Amino acid sequence: MSITKKLITWYSKNKRDLPWRETTDPFKIWLSEIIMQQTRIEQGTSYYLKFVDEFASVEELAIAPEDKIMRMWQGLGYYSRARNLHAAARQIKNQYEGQFPVSYKELIKLKGVGDYTAAAIASITNNEAVPAVDGNVKRVIARLFDIRDDISTAKTYNTIKNISAQLITKDDPGTFNQALMDFGALRCTPKNPKCTDCPLSEHCLAMQSGMVQELPVKYNRTKKKYRYFNFLILELKNGKQDFFYILQRTEKDIWNRLFQFPLIESEQLLKENALIKELSKRIPDAEAGELTISRQYKHLLSHQIIFAQFIRIRLKNEPQKIPSQWIKIPKHKIVDYGIPRLIDQYLKTEYF
Ligand code: SF4
Repeated sequence: MSITKKLITWYSKNKRDLPWRETTDPFKIWLSEIIMQQTRIEQGTSYYLKFVDEFASVEELAIAPEDKIMRMWQGLGYYSRARNLHAAARQIKNQYEGQFPVSYKELIKLKGVGDYTAAAIASITNNEAVPAVDGNVKRVIARLFDIRDDISTAKTYNTIKNISAQLITKDDPGTFNQALMDFGALRCTPKNPKCTDCPLSEHCLAMQSGMVQELPVKYNRTKKKYRYFNFLILELKNGKQDFFYILQRTEKDIWNRLFQFPLIESEQLLKENALIKELSKRIPDAEAGELTISRQYKHLLSHQIIFAQFIRIRLKNEPQKIPSQWIKIPKHKIVDYGIPRLIDQYLKTEYF
C-alpha cells in the first residue's frame, strides 16, 4: 500500500474530532485556520465556537466594529491575525460581494491568508489538489524522506511542498492534507514520536537511518528578547466613581491597537523611587499618594520574554497635564476594551 493510502486509512480511524470538520463552509474553515495558527487546538476551539456563534456569515464579520473583534480575540495573542481577519472579511464583502472565494488563486489574495491557509481551504472546500504545508507536515515529510536541511528555509519548504504534491490524492485532497497534519500532531510528534507500530515505518527513511530524533533540523533560532514593563495604574476618585487611565498602543510592536495602562519600559523592573521620578516626568502636576507594587509577572511571547509589574498609585489630585493619548475611564469599563492577556491576567488575579 502507498504512503497516501496508509495515511488516509490511519486518518479514518484516528482523526481528531474537531467542530470545523463537520462543515465545508469556507467561512468557517477559514475562521478555524486563522484562529488555529500558532494556537493549541484546546485553546483555539472555544474561540472558534465563539466566532461562529457571533457571526453567521463573513458579511456580519465585515461590518462588526474592530474593537469587538479585538475583544473577542483577547487571550489568543498574535493580534495582527485578528486585524487581518477583519480586513479580509471586508475584502470579501467589497470585492467578492460577500461570496467567500474557494480557489487557491483567489484565497491567496486575502489579507492574512498565506500559502498554507489558502491550500488548506481550497483543498477542503474546493477539492483542489494543493498541498498544505504546516509545521506538522514539514516534520513528517522531513522524517519520511530523511531531509536534513534546515527546515526553516524557503528552499526546504519548497522541497517538502513538492514531495507533498506528489503524494496528495486528487480524489480527496482535503482529507489527505488533514490526514498528514493529524499524523504529525498525534503520531509523528516533535518529541517521542510513536514509531513502534507506525503504519508508515516501512517507508520512513529517518527510521532506517536512525535520524528520527534529530529531524527536523532547525538552525538560526532567533534569540529571545527580554523586556521589562512597568505598568502604572493611576487611580483617581471622583465623587463615587473610581477611574484610571489607559491608552491605545499604536507603535509597530507587540499588542498593536490593544489598550494598556501607561507604561514605562526599562532595562530592569524599577523600584519605588525610580517609579515616582518617571511618573513626575510624565505628569508633572500629579500628586502621588499611596503606591503598591504587584508581584512580578513573566509573560512568554514567540520571540520575547516580558517581565512585568503593575504599580497602583492613588492620585491625590486630577492632573491637568496628562499625555494626549491617555483616556480616563471608570475602572469597571475596562472590560469594553481589548487588552493584552498579561494585563487581563493581572486584573483578574490581583486587582478586581
Ligand atoms: S516511523 Fe516514526 S518518524 Fe517515521 S513516520 Fe512513523 S512516527 Fe514518524
